[in-house]
Amino acid sequence: MSTLVERDQSVVWHPYAPPAASPLFAVESARGVRLRLDDGRELIDGMSSWWSTIHGYCHPHIEAALKDQIERLPHVMFGGLTHEGAIRLCERLVEMAPAGLTRVFLSDSGSVAVEIAIKMAIQVWHARGRPEKRRLLTIRGGYHGDTFGAMAVCDPETGMHGLFEGSLTKHLFAPRPECRFGERCEEDELAEFERILVTHKDELAAVILEPIVQGAGGMWFYSSGYLARVRALCDEADVLLITDEIATGFGRTGKLFACEHAGISPDILCVGKALTGGTMSMAATLASEEVAQSLGGGEAGVFMHGPTFMGSALGCAAANASLDLLEQGTWKHQVPAIAAQLAEELEPCRTLPAVNEVRVLGAIGVVELHEPVDMSVVQKAFVDEGIWIRPFGKLVYTMPPYLIEKQDLSAITRGMKTVIEAIR
Ligand SMILES: *Cc1c(COP(=O)(O)O)cnc(C)c1O
Repeated sequence: MSTLVERDQSVVWHPYAPPAASPLFAVESARGVRLRLDDGRELIDGMSSWWSTIHGYCHPHIEAALKDQIERLPHVMFGGLTHEGAIRLCERLVEMAPAGLTRVFLSDSGSVAVEIAIKMAIQVWHARGRPEKRRLLTIRGGYHGDTFGAMAVCDPETGMHGLFEGSLTKHLFAPRPECRFGERCEEDELAEFERILVTHKDELAAVILEPIVQGAGGMWFYSSGYLARVRALCDEADVLLITDEIATGFGRTGKLFACEHAGISPDILCVGKALTGGTMSMAATLASEEVAQSLGGGEAGVFMHGPTFMGSALGCAAANASLDLLEQGTWKHQVPAIAAQLAEELEPCRTLPAVNEVRVLGAIGVVELHEPVDMSVVQKAFVDEGIWIRPFGKLVYTMPPYLIEKQDLSAITRGMKTVIEAIR
């Protein structure tokens, strides 16, 4: 009888991995902030399963909502039919999102929510009699998902655009904002962005970016002044603004949505990842009333999209339960406490030879190295430290569940330091 990992390696594909992924660990169960491996070892989770399990694993409130829902209505097609869970979820998202976003399109994953946002922007200009406005402008260092439309606005280098040359729509890229979060953003920071925007405004449908925190494209935190200025420039140029809050949404940066740091509202906003507290695959694209009106008034008269699992009742139940937990407000104390502890406990990493820089924003701690890590070595080393940390390239980072306790977070920062210290 072969082990789970051996069986996996002969048939299963893993994210951004060769056909037989290695090293690989089999999880038997998870509770709170702990993953239990099939060999009985327990790991403290420093990744929130890629930003999503903000309330920890198997939270009783979300579990109860899912159990109740599965007995009544796991899923029903959303064409021509609706249900209370979806209505309530959309009402709540509109209520909590930045002002002016009044319509919600539910979908099944973050990448799809981005595809939808892009299609909306293109359809809006078509409906307004300006079909030539169909390109996008974004900033380098971004990540928006793995489907073709989303890939086309990911960073061209880390997103390996060269590999898909000819298959991806060619969009426009401005430099990554160099002004950091917490710092002022001088006007000349946006000179190149503004130049491209103004030059191409007649062919641009929208600007798309991750507000404040660029996630998988480089874990980079930039000035709220930059974002505020982008909003103003988009208005001047008559170009829509799409903010991708799939990683930042639901409190991770210390605000419910990262757009709040700059006090702006986009025309279209994407959420996903933490929407269901990490239990079900679900995402949403929110749009302003003007966007919705344009779409309804165009040639098609409808928005051309409709996933089979749109508005999944189980997904909505989980999302509503996760929003209940957020509404209790404990995240407002937990996230700043995590930020303070990460800043203090990761600071000593700064002097290690392998380390280029340490940065913290909200419940996100990043140690950027000089060289990419050797995953075959460090992944096992983290597991041996009893923590689950999954670096990519030069970036060793953590974004733990909000309810992590102080000593568990210390175990994560200690383990990160120990592993990084051993890198030569
Ligand atoms: C993860 C992510 C996506 C893609 O979401 P999936 O659910 O993986 O398709 C898009 N944008 C951002 C900012 C993300 O972090």
